[in-house]
Amino acid sequence: MSLEEAIETTRIHSVAGLLDDSRGLVGTRPFRSPHHTISDAGLIGGGAVPRPGEVSLAHHGVLFLDELPEFQRNVLEVMRQPLEDGSVTISRAATSVTFPARFMLAAAMNPCPCGFFGDSTRECHCSPPQIQRYVSKISGAADRSHRYPYRSARREVQGTSRRKRHGRFRNGARACAARPRAPNRAIHGREKDLR
Ligand SMILES: [Zn+2]
Repeated sequence: MSLEEAIETTRIHSVAGLLDDSRGLVGTRPFRSPHHTISDAGLIGGGAVPRPGEVSLAHHGVLFLDELPEFQRNVLEVMRQPLEDGSVTISRAATSVTFPARFMLAAAMNPCPCGFFGDSTRECHCSPPQIQRYVSKISGAADRSHRYPYRSARREVQGTSRRKRHGRFRNGARACAARPRAPNRAIHGREKDLR
């Protein structure tokens, strides 16, 4: 990270109360991996005195959403502004605060609820309607509107357990955080692939 990026990142983490006094500048790119139960306020920020959410805590780093279809649809919808603008504005009666939110978004999902659709080693027991319902959770909200850079890891890690697959995805996303990256909307081609 450049000095300027480190200062910006540190300021956000300081406002969020995530820095202790012994730490100086945040020198490594943030890697944020919120649980799928996160609220929209937790993701984009909120509170009576506005505090930055995960999209801002991931500024200059990676925001990794594992098990993407498990996130509430309204939570994914609120990411539209930060993804398009690189910032998020939280309005209150008395004030309005804008936090920067330029991050690389990485997301992972299974091909079906059980995770074995199309797998040569294990049989998938999901019904077609179940699979359709699962996949449709992200269509519209994420697939088309926001150009989320997700892809199934099934072929690369066929035969491994669900936990291992997601562990490998998580490690790939974390590795991206260590390298300088364009914000999400500028990601194309092979940069989408997490292995
Ligand atoms: Zn299945």
